[in-house]
Amino acid sequence: VGEFDLIARYFTHPPRGAWPSQGVGDDCALIDLPGVRIAVSCDMLIAGRHFLPDDAPEAIGHKALAVNLSDLAAAGAAPRACFLALGLPEADEAWLARFAAGLHALADAHGCPLLGGDTTRTPPQLHGAGPLTLSVTVLGELPPGQGLTRAGARPGDDLWVSGELGDAALALAARSGAAVLGPEALVAVRARLDRPQPRVALGRSLRTLATSAIDVSDGLAADLGHVLTRSGVGATLLWPAVPRSSVLRAQPEALQRDCALAGGDDYELLFTAPARQRDAVVAAARAAGVAVSRLGTIRAEPGLEILDAAGARIELARRGYDHFAS
Ligand code: ADP
Ligand code: MG
Repeated sequence: VGEFDLIARYFTHPPRGAWPSQGVGDDCALIDLPGVRIAVSCDMLIAGRHFLPDDAPEAIGHKALAVNLSDLAAAGAAPRACFLALGLPEADEAWLARFAAGLHALADAHGCPLLGGDTTRTPPQLHGAGPLTLSVTVLGELPPGQGLTRAGARPGDDLWVSGELGDAALALAARSGAAVLGPEALVAVRARLDRPQPRVALGRSLRTLATSAIDVSDGLAADLGHVLTRSGVGATLLWPAVPRSSVLRAQPEALQRDCALAGGDDYELLFTAPARQRDAVVAAARAAGVAVSRLGTIRAEPGLEILDAAGARIELARRGYDHFAS
């Protein structure tokens, strides 16, 4: 049973509260309050799973907030506040000072102050200390009735992605020995893994242009799959159009495909927009200081078709990261 089966089976419950919301299934929950719509997202990071215990503490603080801001970006929301829950094996103040500096720097840059949280100690395990776990919740603001979700892609829409894909996965491959990189290339891809830049400005300007959006956290094919399922459509994706850095392009084709199509940890925005919005999308991306690439087209027939330069179908060994896939 996969991560998304578990969520669908146990945590997708009809929302019956006083606050209208679309419920579980998008990057953010969108909650309608009088005069405003609030976007909320919550993401957890665990040492050994999402980062290594000896990663720079500033980078861990940055990433814990960045992955959540990326979900606000996917909704097109303006960040307004964050909350931090920490499970610490020990009170290492030197580590905490550096972690907090990384978190607050990104929070300040986005006007997203830390307004609360919880601090607990993880129990010792059989060998050594328990793992460091942390969870950040973000709140963002949207005009009433606005906001992007994974539903809304329509046949004929263009499929777009921001930035470049696959470098974070390449950094992980280098760490495990599956890829060999020179020192400069290693620094470049490590920066993409450790310090993702949430595309908040782009997301906000796509709010009135895009029909759907998601951030690429688990892998392009997997995250596109979520959009297609929730929108009830299919897509044709052109592999040569998938934006890759010069470092990734220097790698063998099979590794490039695995990193850019299934790697994850990119935190770029994947979105759909009607073809008549092409010029407006490019202008919005230029104003936000991010490149965007047109990857393919949404079609009515369900499923994801990935084509190579010759028009032949590419079959993937995996589509992305799933915490519980066997
Ligand atoms: P993201 O990668 O944007 O954080 P996911 O694809 O991991 O989102 O999650 C899919 C949806 O399931 C999201 O709407 C998320 O909020 C929801 N979700 C995940 N885990 C839980 C849970 N334990 N309880 C309620 N909702 C959950
Ligand atoms: Mg997301």
